[in-house]
Amino acid sequence: MTLAELGARVGRAPSALSLLENGRREPKLSLIEALASALGVPAEELLRRQPPNRRAQLEIALADAQRDPWYAELGLPPLRVGSRVPSDVLEHLLALQAELRRQRTKPTATPEEARAANADLRVLMSERGNYFAEIEAAAAEALAPVGYQGGALSQGMLLSVVSRYGFSVRYVQDLPRSARSVTDLRNRRIYLRQEPLGMHTPRAVLLQTLGHFVLGHSAPADFGDFLRQRIEANYFAAAVLVPEQAAAAFLQHAKEAKDLSVEDLRDVFSVSYEMAAHRFTNLATHHLGLPCHFVKNDEGGIIYKAYENDGVVFPSDETGAIEGQRMCKQWSGRQVFSSPDRFSPHHQYSDTPSGTYWCSALVDSGRERGFAITLGVPYEHSRWFRGRDSTRRTTSACPDGDCCQHPPAALAARWDGMAWPSARAHSHVLLALPSGSFPGVDETDVYEFLDRQAAS
Ligand SMILES: [Zn+2]
Repeated sequence: MTLAELGARVGRAPSALSLLENGRREPKLSLIEALASALGVPAEELLRRQPPNRRAQLEIALADAQRDPWYAELGLPPLRVGSRVPSDVLEHLLALQAELRRQRTKPTATPEEARAANADLRVLMSERGNYFAEIEAAAAEALAPVGYQGGALSQGMLLSVVSRYGFSVRYVQDLPRSARSVTDLRNRRIYLRQEPLGMHTPRAVLLQTLGHFVLGHSAPADFGDFLRQRIEANYFAAAVLVPEQAAAAFLQHAKEAKDLSVEDLRDVFSVSYEMAAHRFTNLATHHLGLPCHFVKNDEGGIIYKAYENDGVVFPSDETGAIEGQRMCKQWSGRQVFSSPDRFSPHHQYSDTPSGTYWCSALVDSGRERGFAITLGVPYEHSRWFRGRDSTRRTTSACPDGDCCQHPPAALAARWDGMAWPSARAHSHVLLALPSGSFPGVDETDVYEFLDRQAAS
């Protein structure tokens, strides 16, 4: 039926119906009823949101696609979809448009972008003394009904926190290698490995996963968003395992006794040394009035994580990124590796261009290799800590000068031009993560895993 024929049946000009057809005007109810009766269908049929058939669905989708700014950026002339354009051509165009949209929105980053996003987050954390009141509140609320009294959180309490949010936990052996946990949102099940994942215990991984849901995270919009969510989820896990109220009271007591130590925090709350040291930074400034710094590095001095609000100057590149940089040989995170007992806390004073710091470092032995975890404070705050009586003292001129970045002149003179080292890459530090909605995770593996679990 042409517009003119239909117009004649309902007493309207064809041009008026054309405006309706193209979505430029909305009809009155009386016109809808007249059209329905002229077309021999119930009025509801005209009001249904679903396209009447696949062809109509394709035409509507293509019209929408052409309004997408990224599609418009291609500079193509508008495509008018007449009845002679075959449906399979429309299918192709839409598939291309969907891929274009996916490519443009996936939260991946070049190493430079990733480092810049990380540097931005670090500024934010430093400004807030690494204390996030809203996440502390979420953790306290999660713990409120389970009867937590202090000390380490029991497995039973942990599971009741999880079930309170409607999730159950399954421990499996065949979790995809790229994921630390997988959550089946349909059946609200969290799948985990039973064994620790590097520094992360299964308890921490479970709570990190739950944290995303408790904190209302949705699929990350970009790489900065992804990092922020990961930091918040890790914070949530630490705030549940080392609850603010109990931990702050414990630390205040230790400060009064001039016996502050990360290892006690670790032991009392049964968490990894890394989590205890990191948690200390959350509470130190807000509750104890102590500025501090935290750093994690490998034996070669490469920095993996760093935080400070005490003015210590970490090595950084031109983007302000610290991760992937090499730490001064005189700092405790390097010195601890040559300590006679590297798995016991190593205490030292370090004179640096930005002041003197007292630091406590320990090698947290992961499954593959050890990382040094350092917690440090400016000299005047060392008096609150166990280990303040250390007689070890080093002098660092880094990041400037010939402190340790260049070989001594005599040595250089002997070997300059006569050495050819082959570098071992440490490119996994904030490497550009593989693509996908969740950076670094192989979605195919994850979906196949969920299929297997659903079938069993
Ligand atoms: Zn140095």
